Amino acid sequence: MKQLFLLLLLGVPFLSFADLRPSQFSITISCDKQVVSPNECFQITIQVSNLTVQNQSILIPGAQNKGKRLIQLEYYQVTNNFYTKVAEEIRTIQMDTSERGSVYFKRLDPKESYTFPIFLNDSLNYTKHIQSNYRLPKLPAGTYQVLAWYLPWDEELAKYTFQLTTDFDKNPIEVSEEESKIEMPAGGINSNYISLTIASDSVFYPKENTCTPCEEHCRFCHAIEHEKWHKVERIIRHEQHDWRKQHSQLCWISPNPDAILDCLPTYSTNELIFKTKSGIKYAFITYQIGKIYPVRQRLVQLFHLVFNTSFGIRTSSYKKVRMMKLTLW
Ligand SMILES: [Zn+2]
Repeated sequence: MKQLFLLLLLGVPFLSFADLRPSQFSITISCDKQVVSPNECFQITIQVSNLTVQNQSILIPGAQNKGKRLIQLEYYQVTNNFYTKVAEEIRTIQMDTSERGSVYFKRLDPKESYTFPIFLNDSLNYTKHIQSNYRLPKLPAGTYQVLAWYLPWDEELAKYTFQLTTDFDKNPIEVSEEESKIEMPAGGINSNYISLTIASDSVFYPKENTCTPCEEHCRFCHAIEHEKWHKVERIIRHEQHDWRKQHSQLCWISPNPDAILDCLPTYSTNELIFKTKSGIKYAFITYQIGKIYPVRQRLVQLFHLVFNTSFGIRTSSYKKVRMMKLTLW
């Protein structure tokens, strides 16, 4: 009898989930701060993952500056385990649209993730960069649970990356020929909760131990903090101080592009986000990939004219990667 009861007890959770198909996409959020003051600029890190065993494309905020948010934050108050929504980000983006912007496609390998930061209360970049277009809502001091929604369906491009499913029945509404799209409910997908305490302005709260991932007197971080951009550029150009690994003043490096053109020389960029004394700064570095050797090109032309062969002389190399410059934007 006891065993039967145990079997039933174990069996029930499985039975109740039997109809649900496994998720193909996930969003998780994290924050290295637990206590923030109402106007403080702080970072929440977003990670979106392809949970399928195929290569998949997803949408990321990219340079989006109009329309509806792809990532929306919601704030809950919890009393006796009961969650009440107390605030949410306005979904319509209000940004400077003088430059054209849109969401980006991102190709993800099976089980691969894409991580990017968003910044709250970054008034300097609020209307310029979508990652900074977040503001902590005016809430009384206290502890809140925060979650993020991934909401792609207001984007016209969503139909190229996702397969619409309803929230209740996770079977695709219409079966498409392309099986390879990620299933996405009409209501989007939500993240985990993180706990965030908003301190009242007048109350002193202890500074948290922010662990520095790099060495104590890191010259790269020092240069960023004091906005010595020539120095920062020099360090990047000469690949010094392991600058690509984690640094306390370097919030983010964009992943390398999915593909580059194979006609040389070609150009590539990496976006960077720095934390300086005066706030968050956005930048990008441009690289030239490949090198053309003009003298050799002339020689080959000459050899072709005279001997009708190039003697196997290479006139370009794809192995040369040269940093062009660092630009703040
Ligand atoms: Zn550092």
